[in-house]
Amino acid sequence: MTARITLGTIIEDFSNVALWVLTGTGATHGTDTIYHKEGNASVWMQNTTANMYIQRDHGSLVDMSAGDTIFVHFHVHGDAGLTPGGITTMRIAFIEDSGVTKYFQFAFNSPGSLAEGDYCIAVKKPAATGGRWDVTGAADWSRIRYVSLFVDPFGTDTVKISWLGIRMGYSATPWIVLTCDDGFTTDYTIVKPLVESYGWHFSSYVILSKFGLTNLMTRAQCDAIYGAGHDICNHTATHGAGGLIALDQSALAAEIDTPYETLMSYGYTRSAKHFAYPYGSSNSTVVDAVRINHLTGRRFHTPDMFAHPDLLSGGQYLIPGKDIAEANWATRSAEIIEAVEAGRPYFCTWHQITNQANLESMLAGIAALQTTYPTLRVGSTSEYYNWLAGFPEPDEVSKDVVFGDASDSVGTLVPVKKYLCVTGA
Ligand SMILES: [Zn+2]
Repeated sequence: MTARITLGTIIEDFSNVALWVLTGTGATHGTDTIYHKEGNASVWMQNTTANMYIQRDHGSLVDMSAGDTIFVHFHVHGDAGLTPGGITTMRIAFIEDSGVTKYFQFAFNSPGSLAEGDYCIAVKKPAATGGRWDVTGAADWSRIRYVSLFVDPFGTDTVKISWLGIRMGYSATPWIVLTCDDGFTTDYTIVKPLVESYGWHFSSYVILSKFGLTNLMTRAQCDAIYGAGHDICNHTATHGAGGLIALDQSALAAEIDTPYETLMSYGYTRSAKHFAYPYGSSNSTVVDAVRINHLTGRRFHTPDMFAHPDLLSGGQYLIPGKDIAEANWATRSAEIIEAVEAGRPYFCTWHQITNQANLESMLAGIAALQTTYPTLRVGSTSEYYNWLAGFPEPDEVSKDVVFGDASDSVGTLVPVKKYLCVTGA
């Protein structure tokens, strides 16, 4: 029996905001009690000029020289789902005991707006040079004392963030999840045979009222896709006129619950519980409606380097999809490789395939990546969800590591959040 989860050293779990100093210049700020994410340090910052930060003084030295990758997890809160964090700069600094003249810093400038959700920044420590950390004053990873997290809000925006944790030294399992939206006939004629030629599965998110219309799949084609082990998932009854955000409760039920029930009655029970928001967009009302019957709701999410599933209450995940459109491997390979190297999932979404050669190049590129990164998995939404939620896999009778517990660096038990889900060899 092999452990599916190998957790690394927790540098910070942020469970107690009282251990941190929240400060900055030219701004108002405080501990966030409204949008607080339970068990984490939640803060709000508004109208800052620069250098708003939350800092932890360990008082003694922390040796961070062992791991070569550091993962920083945080949650950006939005007032109404689409309201962004309004963050222009985010910086992480590990400062040596001797003070501010010797530090490592990772800066992400001008992210624009981070949508509401969970994020994971995976940054590589420099070997000698070449990593993503800027080094000032010949700092030493074995002598870290302060950790500082800087956020610069945009203009007068209020940024609300829950800092979830910093870890290093765990082995993650990257995933590439293959999905198609709208139920185009090319799902059946082009995507299915190509994906099957690699031994993978994919997910087709269909619009129930459009079965059999021009260029759209029939139910018989959906049956064939599902019968071959792929997913048929819910992409609403009609796609809405501009999406779901303006709809009232009864209209939401007609777009979300009714097609779910129909897909279940058609026998697509493995995958009908996975939903994709029309146009990738949602707000908290729509998310709540989707949560009634669905395990995941996929949207479009940028920037890619941070995108990570967000586990909501009730066990539903918000999945950050990426519209592949007609991109080929050359135009997407850099961001996909970055996600794989960071152990992060990458969710591809295609629509109608009008350039088969580009799809072929994407799939061939992904297949080649599995040679370079043997832990990389490729598959459908339901396969990814089953892994993410910790359900036993076919070759696995039970797990010898329990979700929810893991030893940290000093041997005590701490909560492990499901979006940190990782596996070992
Ligand atoms: Zn769509």
